[in-house]
Amino acid sequence: MSDNYEKKIREINQRLKDYYGEPERPTDQSGIDYLVETILSQNTNDINRDKAFNQLKEKYSSWEKVENAERDELIDTIRVAGLGPTKAERIQKSLRIVREDQGKYSLEFIDEMKVEEAKKWLTDIPGIGPKTAAIILCFYFGKPVMPVDTHVHRISQRLGLIPEGTSREKAHEILEERVPNDLIYEFHILLIYHGRKHCKAQHATCCEGPLADLCSNCGEISYDDELRV
Ligand code: SF4
Repeated sequence: MSDNYEKKIREINQRLKDYYGEPERPTDQSGIDYLVETILSQNTNDINRDKAFNQLKEKYSSWEKVENAERDELIDTIRVAGLGPTKAERIQKSLRIVREDQGKYSLEFIDEMKVEEAKKWLTDIPGIGPKTAAIILCFYFGKPVMPVDTHVHRISQRLGLIPEGTSREKAHEILEERVPNDLIYEFHILLIYHGRKHCKAQHATCCEGPLADLCSNCGEISYDDELRV
């Protein structure tokens, strides 16, 4: 990683943290909770994901019951998150794979794995793509894996951290290499906050936010050469 990238990313991270506050890590969820929740979050918003997850936990008292639930009933339970048939199938298949592999519903074994091995194990599960795997590895296991969602993808390009037009898959690779390991979790969360408040897809309120002078997409402000990459 070039020193300029590291310097710029640390500066962006610090400014966003000063502006939005330090992101907290949820601590009361298991690895399987994360797995199921990230499947539910595909193509929906956080509110509907949380509703579906809470309904699932209320309806079924164990992961065994979820794995063995009638498919239609499970679809109905998580309907609010959208794509019910696809997500119900993915959840039940994932639970089956974990149980058959581990003899229980637990992902703790992943903690011992190297990052590439853990990514491969997770993405071998049908319906678990690089983003879902990255969320589980970064959020739950604290591994240096950068989840790239739509906000992270858009803002990283606007900030010049990845080239314009970089694919989501390639962005995972580049950002994982460029974002210092100790910042990955909070940088990911802070970019999401920034994407929701100032750096929206259609309209960016640059001058009201904390990054205008660092951003290659904000033309009104001159760049700080020290931080240009
Ligand atoms: S300065 Fe504007 S374009 Fe750049 S990251 Fe902030 S809101 Fe987005």
